Amino acid sequence: MARRIMHIDLDAFFTSVEQVDNPRLKGKPVVVGDQPDRRGVVAAASYEARVFGIHSAMPLKTASRLYPQAIFIEGNIKKYLDAALKFMAILMDFSPFIEPVGIDEAFLDVTGFESLHGSMRQMAGKIRQRIKDDIGINASVGIAGSKLVAKVDMLDSKAAKFERLNSAIDGIGKKYGFTSIQTGRTLRLKDIFPESDRGYTLHTPSLSR
Ligand SMILES: [Mg+2]
Repeated sequence: MARRIMHIDLDAFFTSVEQVDNPRLKGKPVVVGDQPDRRGVVAAASYEARVFGIHSAMPLKTASRLYPQAIFIEGNIKKYLDAALKFMAILMDFSPFIEPVGIDEAFLDVTGFESLHGSMRQMAGKIRQRIKDDIGINASVGIAGSKLVAKVDMLDSKAAKFERLNSAIDGIGKKYGFTSIQTGRTLRLKDIFPESDRGYTLHTPSLSR
């Protein structure tokens, strides 16, 4: 039987949790880390903030220079851990063969589970819906015959989502650069999705679809 691996990753995890907790933050450029005048780095940036070139691990001062109007909050690791535990529990309802990668992502071996959950695509839809219903945030799911390709497939769906998210970008450059309408700056894929830079190389033609 062909292996079927899913890679599930929560979208902009910390900031999404904050946006669920405080609906006034929804659709806003939110930066989790600390106040912009403090030393330290960005722990997470909402997609709306990434449009301005803000990304995790960037000094807070740099982030506030890029977009001073962004909403800076300290964040609360306990809240994120609670959400992460719920997330992993949901995945284990779908398959016991789980390999967490970080706090907000995991591989799931779902080989042979079609009989339980329908097609792979339907199963991915159910997983995303459960996460949305129980935690309130969006997830991206990639499906493939290997972990590496499943992760690339997941990043692909994130990139497509980002493209649809708002009119702040005017397309995708040849080298996976997005041009931000707000700033005129070109953002690389890894500026928007730092996870794309964790040892994975993206060769994904669908980015230009
Ligand atoms: Mg994530």
